[in-house]
Amino acid sequence: MVFFSIVGFVVLFIVIGGFCVFFDQAILARRGTIYRIKTDKKRVLLTFDDGPSPDWTPKILDELKKENISAVFFMIGHHVQKYPDIARQVASEGHTIGNHGYAHSVMFYYTPAEIEEEIQYTEHVIREATGQTTKYFRPPKAWLRRNIKKKVKSMGYETILWSLNSKDWVSFNHKSIVKYISGHIKNGDILLFHDSGNVTTTEGGNRRQTVKSISLLARALREKGFEFVSIEELINGE
Ligand SMILES: [Zn+2]
Repeated sequence: MVFFSIVGFVVLFIVIGGFCVFFDQAILARRGTIYRIKTDKKRVLLTFDDGPSPDWTPKILDELKKENISAVFFMIGHHVQKYPDIARQVASEGHTIGNHGYAHSVMFYYTPAEIEEEIQYTEHVIREATGQTTKYFRPPKAWLRRNIKKKVKSMGYETILWSLNSKDWVSFNHKSIVKYISGHIKNGDILLFHDSGNVTTTEGGNRRQTVKSISLLARALREKGFEFVSIEELINGE
């Protein structure tokens, strides 16, 4: 009996793990969001989720500075409360801060009142730490029901997903991240990375491959004629 429950657990683990690694759930959640911008310009946007992290965000900021790239950091409210200095550093280096909710809860069953409370509280926390307000929201795990997307929009926010998922949170090799992205890149793509966490947690984790991938990715995409733009440039087509 114990043997079968262990086998069952392993099978379940492989099935769920395989689903997470090979399938991008955001593809099913794109309706009513911005996940790629239609453009004939070879422009792309980098986004980093789940920070700020004292271990990894500063290293990622250094890489972005070296490559002169302006990115979006979708921050978790309680991480901002824990590490306000890091959140401030992100803002002061010219990046855009996005709202990723307070506690990284999956919001699929949220009511309009619950989403409003969580977004507003996270906005308050980000403003307290950085002095910045934000109008970009990314739901944890991408799930959001249609009426909730409308609610988010009515609050003056755009829901931003992604078109290309680096899967950096399960990657052991930065070269494979870059190879995958440069093999699939399209105009107006929004790329998903993480500056905190790993498979089991959103805090800390090991983001070494993410850090190492940035300069390699910058080189690979620029060689193909792509430029990295800010979210305003991408959305407004400036
Ligand atoms: Zn997240």
